[in-house]
Amino acid sequence: MCEKMIVLKFGGTSVGNGEMIKRVAKIIKQKKEEEKNVVAVVSAMSEVTNALVDISQKALTVRDLAKVNDFIKFVKDKHYKAIEIAINNKEIKNLVKKIIDSRIEELEKILIGVTYLGELTPKSRDYILSFGERLSAPIVAGALRCLGEKSIALEGGEAGIITDENFGNAKVIKLEVKERLLPFLKEDIIPVVTGFIGCSENGNITTLGRGGSDYSAALIGYGLDAKRIEIWTDVSGIYTSDPKLVPTAKRIPKLSYIEAMELAYFGAKVLHPRTIEPAMEKGIPILVKNTFKPEDEGTLITNNVEINNKIVKAITTIKNVALINIFGAGMVGVSGTVARIFKALEDVNVILISQGSSETNISLVVNDEDVDKAINSLKKEFNGIKKSGFLRNNLIRDIEVDKDICVISVVGAGMKGAKGIAGKIFTLVSEAGANIKMIAQGSSEVNISFVIDEKDLVNCVRKLHKELIENN
Ligand code: ASP
Ligand code: MG
Repeated sequence: MCEKMIVLKFGGTSVGNGEMIKRVAKIIKQKKEEEKNVVAVVSAMSEVTNALVDISQKALTVRDLAKVNDFIKFVKDKHYKAIEIAINNKEIKNLVKKIIDSRIEELEKILIGVTYLGELTPKSRDYILSFGERLSAPIVAGALRCLGEKSIALEGGEAGIITDENFGNAKVIKLEVKERLLPFLKEDIIPVVTGFIGCSENGNITTLGRGGSDYSAALIGYGLDAKRIEIWTDVSGIYTSDPKLVPTAKRIPKLSYIEAMELAYFGAKVLHPRTIEPAMEKGIPILVKNTFKPEDEGTLITNNVEINNKIVKAITTIKNVALINIFGAGMVGVSGTVARIFKALEDVNVILISQGSSETNISLVVNDEDVDKAINSLKKEFNGIKKSGFLRNNLIRDIEVDKDICVISVVGAGMKGAKGIAGKIFTLVSEAGANIKMIAQGSSEVNISFVIDEKDLVNCVRKLHKELIENN
């Protein structure tokens, strides 16, 4: 139905100031001329979501109205400046200003409320966080109108993203994207949809998790059977490694969905991990582009697995994580222990897991901020873990936490079935002077991940990149 239809998503730095918003509007207009139907999805202006997270916390704990005032001044300045530059038509400017003013006024009232009450529920927190996108989208739509296009700013819910009420990380339960957006497209209107947010069936605003605007774009692309989803960001695509860590890292021209998913999950920050699945299910290509350098080709993610002779495509890293080692001879042959561990950790994001063959040791990697929660839940589940000794009735003898570690993942579809690759990787790691503390290989065989001390990270990544990617 939407043969010629693309979704364009612009991240926080891409709409970070008035000049950038102008540039974004031009890109959208040009795409519209090429493709006929376009839907734009935008993030909050850069820094705004972080500032909203920060002020909602401060309103709750510091409870000082001066902080709210400073914050409101910051938000006003930032958006007013953007309007001044991005929107040069007086009538449109006044209209957009009116929307922005009333939203900021509402935000101020809510923050004052939190300050007075000293109460912030997950529901109200999501509502506060939603203001970032709900302030940027009307400005982008206004900038498009200044270029002679018809455009309307819509909230995620208005665009048909319906979620459960798992505030902070809502799950999509229904997509009514076609019903909501096609009428606008038929009228030649460009919808500018707020990324990051959805709406529950009860009408409450929800958020899809930090960085979730990419996911919004994928959901809209899925809902409309788009021909392509373009993610416009501040780098020229997905790289073979983080260029800040590995100066010789290069852009990867093509990736398969599975590779991109593994990369996003294991630390490449360009795409939100949930973005790939909806696109993959309908075979919609995702193109990652640089708003600052639109002429750069970017990275194209499709179904085609480009194996060629590059077995390893990228090396990613995850920092600020901790290794939890669960010991206990009592675990040998006792079925259900692993199930109980998972049950205890159901609210914790477990990044890696591996079990020694003797079954006396299970290792997990979790984010630093989840460590205490994880340990407490485990202790509760296995009530009272004895520090020492061989108490037979204790399934778990001890839990150790190592916080000075990091995860390195080697990713590439060509690794599947390639003999000797793991051996090669681990030889290189040891040559780099690092000691491997845990290993996990995804069943997709598209990635091998392992844990080393954080102090060995840079050496190790550079060595692997040089031998597995550059010299290959
Ligand atoms: N503004 C949201 C965030 O900073 C969503 C996004 O930018 O993708 O997390
Ligand atoms: Mg992002």
